[in-house]
Amino acid sequence: MTAPFPFDNTYARLPERFFARLAPTPVRAPTLIRLNRPLAWDLGLDADWLASEEGVETLAGKSVPTGTESIATAYAGHQFGGFVPQLGDGRAILLGEVVDRNGLRRDIQLKGSGPTPFSRRGDGRAALGPVLREYVVSEAMAALGIPTTRALAAVLTGEKVFREEALPGAVLTRVASSHIRVGTFQFFAAREDTEGLRLLADHVIARHYPKAAQAENPCRALLDAVIHAQATLIPQWLLVGFIHGVMNTDNTSIAGETIDYGPCAFLDAYDPAAVFSAIDHHGRYAYANQPVIAHWNLTRLAECLLPLLSGDEALAIAQAEEALGAFAPTFDNAYRAGLRRKLGLLSERDGDPELGRDLLQLMAADGADFTLTFRALSEGASDAAGELPARKHFKDLVAFDAWAARWRRRLAPEGMDDVVRQQAMQAVNPAYIPRNHRIEAVIRAAVDRNDFGPFEELLSVLSKPFEHRESDADYAKPPEASERVHQTFCGT
Ligand code: AMP
Ligand code: MG
Repeated sequence: MTAPFPFDNTYARLPERFFARLAPTPVRAPTLIRLNRPLAWDLGLDADWLASEEGVETLAGKSVPTGTESIATAYAGHQFGGFVPQLGDGRAILLGEVVDRNGLRRDIQLKGSGPTPFSRRGDGRAALGPVLREYVVSEAMAALGIPTTRALAAVLTGEKVFREEALPGAVLTRVASSHIRVGTFQFFAAREDTEGLRLLADHVIARHYPKAAQAENPCRALLDAVIHAQATLIPQWLLVGFIHGVMNTDNTSIAGETIDYGPCAFLDAYDPAAVFSAIDHHGRYAYANQPVIAHWNLTRLAECLLPLLSGDEALAIAQAEEALGAFAPTFDNAYRAGLRRKLGLLSERDGDPELGRDLLQLMAADGADFTLTFRALSEGASDAAGELPARKHFKDLVAFDAWAARWRRRLAPEGMDDVVRQQAMQAVNPAYIPRNHRIEAVIRAAVDRNDFGPFEELLSVLSKPFEHRESDADYAKPPEASERVHQTFCGT
């Protein structure tokens, strides 16, 4: 038989101190919940084999294909601002890397696959709820066009995991450009292991930012590239109302993908101070604080890279500061451009940021639904004279009408056909997002009733988030008061 995974590993070639070599812990009775066939195809994997008994055993960590060099990677990280010198993959195993059909190298990792030397007090397992949440939200983010890790499969282990109660155990097969985090650099920096840092930087440059190798100072170019990736990722979160919930440095991907979906959430009513995560007591990771935190995390990365930036400490610090200085303008440009597109503006004029800001302020004051309001604006955009459908989301109608008049005046010089504008707006303002109450309902059905129908249906709706379908109208709706989710939990 040909190898089911054509592994071509590079991380496992790095020195032994970068990881622990071990296989997943076998589980009793794995069953497939879902296989992401289009993703399997992109990865050049045989979906039929993955769905076979042998494939499912592999996806559950019960058996390991011959030739696999599985590892748990070492990393450190700042968790809620406090430094932990050793974290690492405590419940995940990197099976290996494959080169996909586009020539991109992708990690294939099992999450929930049993204890590792990095498990600390954890059991190395994952409960079904968080696995379904990560599957749904990561695939929804991908469909929204936002850089993210992907979900290749979810399986039940046939074993229970014990949290506050006994819950079905599950394993997620996660696919990422890499699982290297800011915390991976911190692991070596904390040990003053400059050689380790250099090897890691070289690996990241070769893998993610090959142009940096040609720069005069490749390490500086690497730092610039990671800052750029994060400064363009976070605006995309804000523009769909996404709140990561645990933006620790160990959950900040060097490749610039959204990673480690834990107690994440989406805004229903627009509220810049929104926090859902039950463990975020001080709102460190509140919706509007995410750019500040990303910059803080990147500052930790820059500190790690100082010894590689220059042999002269003062010069190294100057390089780091200059690089970090690019975060704010890059973020602002990307955010403003995205907000303009949400408002149907293709050109850039003075006053545009204020126009967007003022709408958001009205939405915050009136508790308008973030997704529905923008979507409704797109719907009104083709009828320049009629009443805007977005109006119904506001309470202060005088204020909204004044804003709407400003917006219409601003649209006039765009000179774009109304229908074309509406299409352009609908292509960036989703009708469907993974609303918290929908995810909760999916989890309840699966955990309490072993019913995966709602999971399948939600995934299907979210796979085409920009296309309105009358049959899916319920999925666009915000929660009823009784359905509202106030807190999310990591459930690890
Ligand atoms: P996360 O909440 O996914 O960002 O994880 C933070 C750290 O805790 C990482 O080192 C994880 O590997 C570890 N961790 C989380 N849950 C578990 C678990 N159930 N068993 C072992 N380690 C875990
Ligand atoms: Mg993590």
